[in-house]
Formats: sequence, C-alpha cells, structure tokens
Amino acid sequence: MVGEETTRVSDHVWAIMGFPNIAIVVGARATLVVDTGLGPKNGATAAKVAQKLAPTNRLYLTTTHFHPEHAGGEPGFPPQTLLIRDAEQQREMGVHGQEMMDFFRNMSARNNDLLANVELRPPDISFEKEAMVDLGGGVRARLLWLGGAHTNGDELTLVEPDRTLISGDVVQNKVVPNVRGDACTPATWLAVLDRVAELKPVRILPDHSAPGDASLIAAEAELIREIEARGLALKRQGMSIEEASKQVTAELKTEHPDWANTDTSRIMPSVYGETK
Ligand SMILES: [Zn+2]
Repeated sequence: MVGEETTRVSDHVWAIMGFPNIAIVVGARATLVVDTGLGPKNGATAAKVAQKLAPTNRLYLTTTHFHPEHAGGEPGFPPQTLLIRDAEQQREMGVHGQEMMDFFRNMSARNNDLLANVELRPPDISFEKEAMVDLGGGVRARLLWLGGAHTNGDELTLVEPDRTLISGDVVQNKVVPNVRGDACTPATWLAVLDRVAELKPVRILPDHSAPGDASLIAAEAELIREIEARGLALKRQGMSIEEASKQVTAELKTEHPDWANTDTSRIMPSVYGETK
C-alpha cells in the first residue's frame, strides 16, 4: 500500500518509497506526481501526500508505463488533476491494459479489491517524444519517450535544475530487467540507455529499487549485455529458453546474493529472439 511518508531525493523531488516508488516533483505553482500506486485508494493517498507538500499548487500526474501499479490509481486523484503521458504508452494501454488489469486482479484478493471497477480515462495531454512541463519557480520536468525498454511506452522524467531522472523500470538498481513490451528486446533497451546516458542525470530514482547516481545507467547496460551473452551461449548449446533462464537466474543469484530477485524468465525469450 502507498504510505504517507516521503523521502527527499533532491531539491525539488520527493518520493514515497514502495511498490512502486512514487515521485513527487514540487515547483512554485504546480506539483507533478509520477505514478499512482495500485488502484484508486493508493492513488488518493499519493495525491494527498503531494497536496500536503504544496497545498496551493496545481496537480499534474504522469505515469512511467501503463501497468496497473503505475497507472491504475489515476481515478483516486482529484478530478481537476492534469493527466499527461506519452502517446505510445496510451496506445499500449489500449492494446494490453485490460489484460494487465486482469493479470493483477488475479494475483490476490487484495489486488482484486484495489482494482475493482477501475475505469481509466485518456490523458488531457499526450505527446510523442517530449513534453516540457513548467512547474514554476524555475522547476521543469522533461517528460521523455526514448523508445521501448521494459514496455513500448516507457516514459522517463528529467527534473531540472536538479538533474534528477525518474527512470521507471528503464534504469533500476540491483534488479534484473523485465522485458514486457511487444516491441522490446535487449537491443531496444540498450538503445534507450544510450540516450538516457546523454541526459547526464546526477541522481536517479527508479520505480522498483533504491535511488542512486548516474553509474546505474552503465550498470543496467552491462547487466543486459551479460544476460544476453550468457543466454546466447546457452542457446548455441541447444538449451531451451526455460533451462537457460533457470541457469542464468541461479548464476546471478550466486553472484549477487543481496539482490531481492534475479529472475531472468522475463528477458530470456527476447534474448532467444522470440517475438511476442
Ligand atoms: Zn511494469
């Protein structure tokens, strides 16, 4: 559940740490919330926390991708909230939104409860590649679609002047990449990371792991290359996707005993060149 405690990430960025981490960017006139939590009840908590940080600010909302723990809490936000997201994310929600919603509902009775009767509205503003959101007082959020990595519609937010990057699933910290989008492969993910590196962020807030510095970008790329190389070697030996995934998962677990999860089953099919 989304809590009410915030962690300060940089001068204008706060986070509610949880599943997912929800970023709150506060300017002089407006506040941008990035991600909602699972379902309207959690969305309402995130909105309340954002309003507490800056009670008179206008509220904006954006989402890192369409998955329900990131976007499914939107109806819990006040109705006058301005919703912005990239067009690819919205298209992907149109194609896979219902299926993902059902997948999450079926996980547990609590999820089913949180997502009961959720109807999501289209954004007030959508953009193809970039939208600059002026929050007042010199605080700007650059919303960016750089291509597909975790999902086709992955959105990243660079907060200026902090140079804090809200990275969604695209850059994580000690987390194995999870390839879900129809058009996503290790190669598309690596291409996105090249563009992320050009942004030269100082601080990175991922959605499912701890904040870190810009070194997370190179670490993410290295991890993807490593999994890809190992997977392809096992493919050449004639191993099945399932076996290769089990083996690489176990190897990563041995190398990184402190990681919560080293499951490679969501990236191995794309390493093998399986299309969805
Ligand atoms: Zn996701």
